[in-house]
Amino acid sequence: MKKNLFLFLLGLLLFSPLASCKKNNEIQNYINKNNQPINNDELIKKDKKLLLVSFTILKDIVKNIVGEEFLVESITKPGMEVHGYQITPSDLVRGSNAIIFIENGFGFELWAEKYVSNLNVKRITLSDNLEPLFINEDIYKGKPNPHAWISPKRGILYVDILMEALSELDPENKAKFKKNAQIYKNKIKKIDEDFSLFLNTLQKSKKYLVSCEGAFSYLTKDYGLTEAYLWPVNAESQITPKRMARVIDLVKTKEIPAIFCESTVSSESQLSVAKETGAVFGGNLYVDSLSDKNGPAETYLDMLSHNLDTIKNGFNSSREN
Ligand SMILES: [Zn+2]
Repeated sequence: MKKNLFLFLLGLLLFSPLASCKKNNEIQNYINKNNQPINNDELIKKDKKLLLVSFTILKDIVKNIVGEEFLVESITKPGMEVHGYQITPSDLVRGSNAIIFIENGFGFELWAEKYVSNLNVKRITLSDNLEPLFINEDIYKGKPNPHAWISPKRGILYVDILMEALSELDPENKAKFKKNAQIYKNKIKKIDEDFSLFLNTLQKSKKYLVSCEGAFSYLTKDYGLTEAYLWPVNAESQITPKRMARVIDLVKTKEIPAIFCESTVSSESQLSVAKETGAVFGGNLYVDSLSDKNGPAETYLDMLSHNLDTIKNGFNSSREN
Protein backbone atom coordinates (compact mmCIF):
# COMPACT_ATOMS: atom_id res chain seq x y z
CA MET A 1 0.00 0.00 0.00
CA LYS A 2 2.78 2.37 1.01
CA LYS A 3 4.66 1.44 -2.13
CA ASN A 4 1.63 2.32 -4.29
CA LEU A 5 1.23 5.65 -2.55
CA PHE A 6 4.93 6.35 -3.12
CA LEU A 7 4.61 5.55 -6.84
CA PHE A 8 1.53 7.73 -7.10
CA LEU A 9 3.30 10.69 -5.48
CA LEU A 10 6.37 10.10 -7.63
CA GLY A 11 4.14 10.10 -10.70
CA LEU A 12 2.56 13.37 -9.67
CA LEU A 13 5.95 14.91 -9.10
CA LEU A 14 7.33 13.72 -12.42
CA PHE A 15 4.40 14.39 -14.70
CA SER A 16 2.71 17.47 -13.40
CA PRO A 17 5.51 19.90 -14.33
CA LEU A 18 5.53 18.40 -17.83
CA ALA A 19 1.78 18.61 -18.06
CA SER A 20 1.65 22.21 -16.93
CA CYS A 21 4.59 23.05 -19.22
CA LYS A 22 2.70 21.61 -22.21
CA LYS A 23 -0.38 23.55 -21.20
CA ASN A 24 1.61 26.78 -20.99
CA ASN A 25 2.96 26.19 -24.48
CA GLU A 26 -0.51 25.63 -25.80
CA ILE A 27 -1.74 28.81 -24.21
CA GLN A 28 1.30 30.65 -25.53
CA ASN A 29 0.56 29.38 -29.02
CA TYR A 30 -2.89 30.89 -28.96
CA ILE A 31 -1.61 34.34 -28.04
CA ASN A 32 0.09 36.35 -30.75
CA LYS A 33 2.69 39.08 -30.40
CA ASN A 34 0.11 41.71 -29.51
CA ASN A 35 -1.27 39.47 -26.78
CA GLN A 36 -4.42 38.90 -28.83
CA PRO A 37 -5.84 35.38 -29.07
CA ILE A 38 -5.55 34.03 -32.61
CA ASN A 39 -7.74 31.40 -34.25
CA ASN A 40 -6.81 27.96 -35.48
CA ASP A 41 -6.51 28.94 -39.16
CA GLU A 42 -4.02 31.62 -38.33
CA LEU A 43 -2.08 29.14 -36.23
CA ILE A 44 -1.83 26.74 -39.15
CA LYS A 45 -0.85 29.58 -41.47
CA LYS A 46 1.84 30.72 -39.07
CA ASP A 47 3.45 27.32 -38.80
CA LYS A 48 3.63 26.51 -42.50
CA LYS A 49 6.19 27.63 -45.02
CA LEU A 50 4.95 29.60 -48.00
CA LEU A 51 5.21 28.42 -51.60
CA LEU A 52 4.41 31.32 -53.90
CA VAL A 53 3.27 30.68 -57.47
CA SER A 54 2.55 33.05 -60.36
CA PHE A 55 -1.01 32.04 -61.31
CA THR A 56 -4.05 30.25 -59.94
CA ILE A 57 -3.83 27.12 -62.10
CA LEU A 58 -0.34 26.41 -60.81
CA LYS A 59 -1.52 27.03 -57.25
CA ASP A 60 -4.15 24.33 -57.59
CA ILE A 61 -1.74 21.80 -59.13
CA VAL A 62 0.90 22.44 -56.45
CA LYS A 63 -1.72 22.17 -53.70
CA ASN A 64 -2.83 18.80 -55.00
CA ILE A 65 0.74 17.53 -54.67
CA VAL A 66 1.79 19.00 -51.31
CA GLY A 67 -1.58 18.65 -49.56
CA GLU A 68 -1.44 20.40 -46.21
CA GLU A 69 2.35 20.39 -45.88
CA PHE A 70 2.81 23.95 -47.16
CA LEU A 71 0.88 27.14 -47.57
CA VAL A 72 0.40 27.78 -51.31
CA GLU A 73 -0.48 31.25 -52.60
CA SER A 74 -0.77 32.77 -56.06
CA ILE A 75 0.40 36.26 -57.07
CA THR A 76 -2.48 36.67 -59.56
CA LYS A 77 -6.07 36.08 -58.47
CA PRO A 78 -8.87 34.00 -60.05
CA GLY A 79 -10.24 35.61 -63.22
CA MET A 80 -7.19 37.79 -63.81
CA GLU A 81 -5.29 38.23 -67.03
CA VAL A 82 -1.77 37.06 -66.15
CA HIS A 83 0.63 37.99 -69.00
CA GLY A 84 0.75 41.73 -68.33
CA TYR A 85 0.05 41.73 -64.58
CA GLN A 86 1.50 44.67 -62.59
CA ILE A 87 3.33 43.77 -59.39
CA THR A 88 2.12 45.51 -56.20
CA PRO A 89 4.06 46.33 -53.00
CA SER A 90 2.17 43.58 -51.16
CA ASP A 91 3.40 41.05 -53.75
CA LEU A 92 6.94 42.00 -52.76
CA VAL A 93 6.14 41.51 -49.08
CA ARG A 94 4.66 38.09 -49.83
CA GLY A 95 7.68 37.22 -51.95
CA SER A 96 10.01 38.04 -49.09
CA ASN A 97 8.11 35.60 -46.84
CA ALA A 98 8.13 32.75 -49.37
CA ILE A 99 10.69 29.95 -49.54
CA ILE A 100 10.17 29.49 -53.27
CA PHE A 101 8.64 31.16 -56.31
CA ILE A 102 7.16 28.84 -58.95
CA GLU A 103 6.35 30.10 -62.44
CA ASN A 104 5.29 28.69 -65.80
CA GLY A 105 8.00 30.36 -67.89
CA PHE A 106 8.02 30.38 -71.74
CA GLY A 107 7.54 34.18 -71.39
CA PHE A 108 4.08 33.79 -69.83
CA GLU A 109 4.75 35.97 -66.78
CA LEU A 110 6.14 39.10 -68.45
CA TRP A 111 6.59 40.59 -64.97
CA ALA A 112 8.40 37.68 -63.28
CA GLU A 113 11.99 38.59 -64.14
CA LYS A 114 11.75 42.02 -62.54
CA TYR A 115 9.78 40.63 -59.61
CA VAL A 116 12.29 37.94 -58.74
CA SER A 117 15.24 40.34 -59.17
CA ASN A 118 13.84 42.25 -56.18
CA LEU A 119 13.70 39.13 -54.00
CA ASN A 120 16.07 36.64 -52.50
CA VAL A 121 14.00 33.55 -53.24
CA LYS A 122 14.58 30.18 -54.91
CA ARG A 123 12.84 29.93 -58.29
CA ILE A 124 11.30 26.98 -60.14
CA THR A 125 10.52 27.54 -63.83
CA LEU A 126 8.40 24.74 -65.29
CA SER A 127 9.33 25.51 -68.88
CA ASP A 128 12.95 24.52 -68.14
CA ASN A 129 11.69 20.94 -68.37
CA LEU A 130 9.03 21.26 -71.09
CA GLU A 131 9.22 21.06 -74.89
CA PRO A 132 7.88 24.30 -76.37
CA LEU A 133 5.60 24.86 -79.33
CA PHE A 134 6.41 28.13 -81.06
CA ILE A 135 4.15 31.03 -82.01
CA ASN A 136 4.47 31.80 -85.70
CA GLU A 137 2.92 35.26 -85.90
CA ASP A 138 3.46 38.94 -85.24
CA ILE A 139 5.92 40.22 -82.69
CA TYR A 140 5.72 36.84 -80.94
CA LYS A 141 6.92 34.92 -83.97
CA GLY A 142 9.53 32.36 -82.93
CA LYS A 143 8.76 32.68 -79.20
CA PRO A 144 7.42 29.72 -77.23
CA ASN A 145 3.67 29.53 -76.73
CA PRO A 146 3.35 29.56 -72.93
CA HIS A 147 -0.06 27.85 -72.55
CA ALA A 148 1.09 24.24 -72.25
CA TRP A 149 -1.20 23.43 -69.27
CA ILE A 150 -4.26 23.73 -71.53
CA SER A 151 -3.62 20.20 -72.80
CA PRO A 152 -4.37 17.47 -70.24
CA LYS A 153 -1.43 15.49 -71.65
CA ARG A 154 0.96 18.35 -70.76
CA GLY A 155 -0.87 18.88 -67.45
CA ILE A 156 0.35 15.42 -66.47
CA LEU A 157 3.91 16.58 -67.25
CA TYR A 158 3.39 19.64 -65.03
CA VAL A 159 2.48 17.31 -62.14
CA ASP A 160 5.60 15.19 -62.70
CA ILE A 161 7.95 18.19 -62.91
CA LEU A 162 6.44 19.81 -59.82
CA MET A 163 6.46 16.55 -57.87
CA GLU A 164 10.22 16.17 -58.49
CA ALA A 165 10.99 19.81 -57.66
CA LEU A 166 8.89 19.80 -54.49
CA SER A 167 10.39 16.50 -53.35
CA GLU A 168 13.84 18.06 -53.67
CA LEU A 169 12.63 20.97 -51.59
CA ASP A 170 11.18 18.67 -48.93
CA PRO A 171 12.75 15.18 -49.25
CA GLU A 172 11.05 13.89 -46.09
CA ASN A 173 7.66 14.11 -47.79
CA LYS A 174 8.73 12.63 -51.11
CA ALA A 175 6.62 9.47 -50.74
CA LYS A 176 3.54 11.48 -49.80
CA PHE A 177 3.99 13.88 -52.74
CA LYS A 178 4.48 10.97 -55.11
CA LYS A 179 1.28 9.30 -53.93
CA ASN A 180 -0.73 12.53 -54.16
CA ALA A 181 0.68 13.19 -57.64
CA GLN A 182 -0.30 9.72 -58.86
CA ILE A 183 -3.90 10.07 -57.64
CA TYR A 184 -4.08 13.50 -59.27
CA LYS A 185 -2.55 12.35 -62.55
CA ASN A 186 -5.11 9.53 -62.78
CA LYS A 187 -7.88 12.12 -62.65
CA ILE A 188 -6.28 14.18 -65.45
CA LYS A 189 -5.76 10.98 -67.46
CA LYS A 190 -9.48 10.21 -67.25
CA ILE A 191 -10.32 13.64 -68.74
CA ASP A 192 -7.69 13.07 -71.46
CA GLU A 193 -9.15 9.67 -72.37
CA ASP A 194 -12.74 10.90 -72.48
CA PHE A 195 -11.81 13.73 -74.85
CA SER A 196 -9.81 11.41 -77.13
CA LEU A 197 -12.77 9.01 -77.29
CA PHE A 198 -15.06 11.85 -78.35
CA LEU A 199 -12.64 13.09 -81.02
CA ASN A 200 -12.39 9.59 -82.47
CA THR A 201 -16.05 9.89 -83.42
CA LEU A 202 -15.47 13.15 -85.33
CA GLN A 203 -14.52 13.58 -89.01
CA LYS A 204 -11.20 15.33 -89.63
CA SER A 205 -12.97 18.13 -91.52
CA LYS A 206 -14.84 18.98 -88.30
CA LYS A 207 -11.76 19.32 -86.13
CA TYR A 208 -11.23 23.12 -86.09
CA LEU A 209 -10.80 24.99 -82.82
CA VAL A 210 -11.34 28.73 -83.27
CA SER A 211 -10.61 30.92 -80.23
CA CYS A 212 -9.80 34.57 -79.36
CA GLU A 213 -6.27 34.02 -78.01
CA GLY A 214 -3.96 31.52 -79.71
CA ALA A 215 -3.72 29.69 -76.41
CA PHE A 216 -4.76 26.24 -77.60
CA SER A 217 -1.73 25.16 -79.64
CA TYR A 218 -0.75 22.40 -77.20
CA LEU A 219 -4.31 21.07 -77.04
CA THR A 220 -4.77 21.14 -80.83
CA LYS A 221 -1.37 19.52 -81.43
CA ASP A 222 -1.88 16.78 -78.82
CA TYR A 223 -5.38 15.88 -80.03
CA GLY A 224 -5.08 16.29 -83.80
CA LEU A 225 -7.16 19.48 -84.12
CA THR A 226 -6.50 22.52 -86.34
CA GLU A 227 -6.16 25.84 -84.54
CA ALA A 228 -7.31 29.32 -85.57
CA TYR A 229 -7.52 32.50 -83.48
CA LEU A 230 -8.09 36.25 -83.52
CA TRP A 231 -4.79 37.21 -81.86
CA PRO A 232 -1.71 35.18 -80.88
CA VAL A 233 -1.21 36.37 -77.25
CA ASN A 234 -3.51 38.31 -74.88
CA ALA A 235 -0.82 40.84 -74.05
CA GLU A 236 -1.32 42.14 -77.62
CA SER A 237 -5.03 41.53 -77.86
CA GLN A 238 -5.79 44.08 -80.58
CA ILE A 239 -7.99 42.77 -83.29
CA THR A 240 -7.01 43.93 -86.77
CA PRO A 241 -9.34 43.88 -89.84
CA LYS A 242 -6.90 41.49 -91.52
CA ARG A 243 -7.00 38.94 -88.69
CA MET A 244 -10.74 39.22 -88.42
CA ALA A 245 -11.21 38.70 -92.18
CA ARG A 246 -8.93 35.67 -92.13
CA VAL A 247 -10.90 33.98 -89.33
CA ILE A 248 -14.25 34.83 -90.98
CA ASP A 249 -13.02 33.35 -94.24
CA LEU A 250 -11.88 30.12 -92.57
CA VAL A 251 -15.10 29.66 -90.56
CA LYS A 252 -17.20 30.17 -93.69
CA THR A 253 -15.10 27.99 -96.00
CA LYS A 254 -14.78 25.09 -93.57
CA GLU A 255 -18.35 25.51 -92.30
CA ILE A 256 -17.07 25.44 -88.75
CA PRO A 257 -20.08 24.97 -86.44
CA ALA A 258 -18.89 26.84 -83.34
CA ILE A 259 -16.25 29.35 -82.27
CA PHE A 260 -15.02 30.28 -78.80
CA CYS A 261 -13.43 33.02 -76.71
CA GLU A 262 -11.77 33.11 -73.27
CA SER A 263 -12.86 34.14 -69.80
CA THR A 264 -10.28 36.88 -69.22
CA VAL A 265 -10.90 38.90 -72.42
CA SER A 266 -13.90 40.51 -74.14
CA SER A 267 -15.85 38.16 -76.46
CA GLU A 268 -17.11 41.08 -78.55
CA SER A 269 -14.94 40.44 -81.63
CA GLN A 270 -15.69 36.73 -81.64
CA LEU A 271 -19.42 37.43 -81.37
CA SER A 272 -19.07 39.58 -84.50
CA VAL A 273 -17.35 36.68 -86.28
CA ALA A 274 -20.22 34.38 -85.24
CA LYS A 275 -22.78 36.86 -86.55
CA GLU A 276 -20.91 37.28 -89.82
CA THR A 277 -20.36 33.57 -90.48
CA GLY A 278 -23.43 31.82 -89.09
CA ALA A 279 -21.31 29.86 -86.63
CA VAL A 280 -22.59 29.41 -83.08
CA PHE A 281 -20.73 31.24 -80.32
CA GLY A 282 -19.76 28.18 -78.28
CA GLY A 283 -18.88 30.00 -75.04
CA ASN A 284 -15.87 31.08 -73.03
CA LEU A 285 -12.97 28.77 -72.31
CA TYR A 286 -10.68 29.18 -69.30
CA VAL A 287 -7.05 29.71 -70.16
CA ASP A 288 -4.83 31.88 -67.98
CA SER A 289 -6.79 31.86 -64.71
CA LEU A 290 -9.23 29.72 -62.78
CA SER A 291 -12.68 31.11 -62.00
CA ASP A 292 -13.72 32.14 -58.50
CA LYS A 293 -15.70 29.75 -56.27
CA ASN A 294 -19.01 30.40 -58.05
CA GLY A 295 -17.60 29.82 -61.54
CA PRO A 296 -17.23 26.61 -63.57
CA ALA A 297 -13.43 26.42 -63.28
CA GLU A 298 -12.64 26.63 -59.60
CA THR A 299 -9.95 23.94 -59.92
CA TYR A 300 -7.61 22.83 -62.72
CA LEU A 301 -9.61 19.59 -63.15
CA ASP A 302 -12.86 21.61 -63.35
CA MET A 303 -11.22 23.93 -65.86
CA LEU A 304 -10.14 21.06 -68.12
CA SER A 305 -13.57 19.44 -67.91
CA HIS A 306 -15.36 22.73 -68.55
CA ASN A 307 -13.16 23.57 -71.56
CA LEU A 308 -13.39 20.16 -73.16
CA ASP A 309 -17.16 19.86 -72.55
CA THR A 310 -17.67 23.34 -74.05
CA ILE A 311 -15.60 22.34 -77.09
CA LYS A 312 -17.52 19.04 -77.43
CA ASN A 313 -20.90 20.82 -77.28
CA GLY A 314 -19.69 23.38 -79.81
CA PHE A 315 -18.43 20.72 -82.21
CA ASN A 316 -21.77 18.94 -81.91
CA SER A 317 -23.85 22.08 -82.54
CA SER A 318 -25.45 23.01 -85.85
CA ARG A 319 -24.60 26.18 -87.72
CA GLU A 320 -27.28 28.83 -87.80
CA ASN A 321 -27.24 29.04 -91.58
ZN1 LIG B 1 -2.69 33.71 -72.26
